[in-house]
Amino acid sequence: MKLPLPFLLTLGLMTASAFAQQQVLKGATLYDGNGGEPIENSVVVVEKGTISCVGTDCAIADGAEVIDVSGKYLTPGLVDSHVHYAASGWFDSRQMFPILEDLYDTEEVQDYLQSNTDKLDRTYLCSGVTALFDTGSFPWTVSLQEGSIANSDKPRFVAAGQLLTHGETPMSEAVLKKQVHAGVHEFLPMSTDEEALSSVAAVAATGASALKVWFDPLPQELTDEYYPRLKVIGDAAHRQGLQFIVHTWTLADAKAAVAAGADVLVHSVYDKLVDDEFIQAVVDNDVVYEPTSSFALTDGISTLNILLGDEPNFNDPNHCIDPHTRKLVKEGYKKLHPFYNKMLNKMDYVRSVIANGQEQFIVKYNMKTLHEAGATVATSTDAGNPSMFHGASMLEEMRNMQSAGISAADVLVMSTKNGAKALGLEATLGTVEVGKNADLVVLEEDPGKDVSAFRSITHVMRFGTLHSIADLSYANENAD
Ligand SMILES: [Zn+2]
Repeated sequence: MKLPLPFLLTLGLMTASAFAQQQVLKGATLYDGNGGEPIENSVVVVEKGTISCVGTDCAIADGAEVIDVSGKYLTPGLVDSHVHYAASGWFDSRQMFPILEDLYDTEEVQDYLQSNTDKLDRTYLCSGVTALFDTGSFPWTVSLQEGSIANSDKPRFVAAGQLLTHGETPMSEAVLKKQVHAGVHEFLPMSTDEEALSSVAAVAATGASALKVWFDPLPQELTDEYYPRLKVIGDAAHRQGLQFIVHTWTLADAKAAVAAGADVLVHSVYDKLVDDEFIQAVVDNDVVYEPTSSFALTDGISTLNILLGDEPNFNDPNHCIDPHTRKLVKEGYKKLHPFYNKMLNKMDYVRSVIANGQEQFIVKYNMKTLHEAGATVATSTDAGNPSMFHGASMLEEMRNMQSAGISAADVLVMSTKNGAKALGLEATLGTVEVGKNADLVVLEEDPGKDVSAFRSITHVMRFGTLHSIADLSYANENAD
């Protein structure tokens, strides 16, 4: 990407004065993440990775490194509150069909992902994302948290680690069996209260920051047993100081999760329009609602099209997806295409998306309605799932949220401040305010008018270090 000459010169100075006491970003139009009108001609002062002054007349110390960002726009770093580092964005790490077990070796895939997390870190920073919530995976993901806290080369990483599920449906039964390297499970059981409590204790012992129940919709007759157990699990999670997250798809399950004390609901209510009782409960209990709308609005369809033989479209304007992932997908879709019919039979969800637009309407209506009622909606991609590419999915999700009728300025709050709340880190990130991490995005275009402006990112600051997109991008390493 070509930069205007004066800005290039400023960047040259920046490298020379990396040890300046203060860095000052001066002149940009600032959206601070709290909503409301932007600050024109702003000044943001950064010291030791932390924001020390924000406004229009901050005192600037002698020897400070002043970076001229006039004519540009500044926002907090984006927060994706639903990703999976143990998943690649392709079917190799999401083996939901038997045929995939013949095509890909789960242990090899996990070993690769675990040894290459730095590639994903770069992908996220390149996409303007400076904090992530890994909402459930193999336990190795938990170990990424600590080294990310004050690290300028990594997004801040918060992980839920192993998930709990009931094993009462074919999908939940299958995932409970999933393991790598003999005995390392991604899911733990909750078939009795005692078993659920011991699973919570096991997750807490790994050092996870959250406890997630993956609540595949149950047959009606089992809800009397499992809804109260959600509360047992939620209470135990809270006693351990963990965020309590529940994956639900239906209004009935989502209500039960809120009643059980869920802090975060991952995935929209897909089956019905939200009603007054649910809206009130979400608002009153201060629950974060994650729409993951791209599942229904775009990605479900593009996944199907890829399986039908369409060339994958990465939607990756800044070339933030690494070459390995691109190759995996480009070779993978040709491998999978012959088995399309076998997979489609089991892909009920994707079929339902194709079958009618009703679910798409529900997803849009529910997120907009909850937002307008005062609920906290947080941008979340579920990246790592097939064709939901790490990093690039963030912009797609933001555009889908805007397409639901939510203003660009509000989507920006959902993608920054509200994301920080989902992570339980509102005190340290998500807005451009004194005392918070210096995590910032510099853009050419105005993100308050249209979130597509995030295609025009020029720089990303993480914990006080300003990276240029030219340095973060894989453009030179990608053949296409
Ligand atoms: Zn997920």
